[in-house]
Amino acid sequence: MRLTKKLISEVVSNAVGIEAVDIALYLKGKKDISELIIAKDMNISIQEARALLYKLYEAHLTSFERKRDKHKGWHISHWDFLDDNIHKLNLEQHQNKILLLRNRLDREQKNEFYMCGHACARVDFDKAVEVNFKCNECGALMNPVDNSRTIEVLSGKIQELESSIN
Ligand SMILES: [Zn+2]
Repeated sequence: MRLTKKLISEVVSNAVGIEAVDIALYLKGKKDISELIIAKDMNISIQEARALLYKLYEAHLTSFERKRDKHKGWHISHWDFLDDNIHKLNLEQHQNKILLLRNRLDREQKNEFYMCGHACARVDFDKAVEVNFKCNECGALMNPVDNSRTIEVLSGKIQELESSIN
C-alpha cells in the first residue's frame, strides 16, 4: 500500500490526534532532521515541535538521536519518521475496528431485541422480560425488532474492512 497523505492523516489522527497530522505529513520520508529545522519549517516554537514529536514517538512513528550542537554547545534531537510503522499501525487500527464490529455482530445474531412503536429504546430479550415487555419511556408494549438489516450492514462493513487490509 502506498504511503499517501490520506493514509498518514487517518492513522496519525487515530493514534495521536489531529494536531499531529501536519507535522507527520511534513516529516514523511525525512531522516535525521534537526528539531530546530522542523520548528522553523513548521513555523512553530521548538517546545511545540518537541511536544508533537514526542507524541509521535510514543506512537512509534518517530525515533530520535540527541546530538551536541558544536557551535552552541547544547543538545538537540535529530528525528526520523518511521514510514513503515504507518502501515503497521493502520493494520492494527483496522483489526481493532473489525474486532469491535465482530462483537457487535455477534450480539445482534445471538439476541432478540424489542422496541415499542415509538422507537424510544431498543432492549434485549432479558431486559424486555424484566420490564414485562412494557417500554420504560412511554409504557407501550414492546415487540420484537427485525435486525436482519443491521446484521447485513455489519457483515458488509466487516467484509469491506477485511478486503481493504488483504
Ligand atoms: Zn416507548
